[in-house]
Amino acid sequence: MKQISKQKIIQLWNSFIHLFYPNNCILCTEPLIAGEKHLCIHCLHKLPQTNEADLTCGQTAQLFYGKIPFRYATSFLFFKKESDVQNLIHAFKYKGNKQLAYYLGRMAATKLLKHAALDTIDYIVPVPLHKKRLSERGYNQAEWIAKGVASVLNKPIDTTTLIRCKHTESQTKKNASDRWQNVQNIFAITHAQHFNQKHILIIDDVITTGATIEVAAQTILKEASAEISLFSIALAQR
Ligand SMILES: [Zn+2]
Repeated sequence: MKQISKQKIIQLWNSFIHLFYPNNCILCTEPLIAGEKHLCIHCLHKLPQTNEADLTCGQTAQLFYGKIPFRYATSFLFFKKESDVQNLIHAFKYKGNKQLAYYLGRMAATKLLKHAALDTIDYIVPVPLHKKRLSERGYNQAEWIAKGVASVLNKPIDTTTLIRCKHTESQTKKNASDRWQNVQNIFAITHAQHFNQKHILIIDDVITTGATIEVAAQTILKEASAEISLFSIALAQR
């Protein structure tokens, strides 16, 4: 039988406790005090922020060099397996906690505000889910992150121009080349002229190989003469 790590057992236990005590910290289960939301101040400060100072050459940007033309690329947190960040992603992706996605989007965007360069963004575009996955989950977590980001940057969200036309299997158990094959031709553009001469910020929850967000960007660039920037809540660490 596959061995379950101690960390995993703690995560499962904390998730279980959170079901009954939603006003407790998602990570450590301590009761939240006034002003805290989802996470206590202690767990919040422990989150591994990327603190990418230059949005053109940080670790997120380096992942896309030579693959697609982009203006800025950044992520809020670093992500490792069996970490607190994985636990947060799990909560907003699989356990229905879309308000957490919104909260993290807002927090990330507050850090982005110091980059005046982002003022040029015209539309925020969350990576779309296929309607089958959307009906299973009930919401698109990338859209809730985007709502949080949009509320701080004061930019409109566009969810109708880039659409997902192919349902793909889960990416999590695939290697890099399989992931690449899996995401080809999954997106389409409904009315390209809408994005012409616009600066589009594409948002996803996690960047692992970057294949999904890269294909989303390529789909837009194929049809419209747009400028692309990329943002994720978490960048996977290898
Ligand atoms: Zn905590």
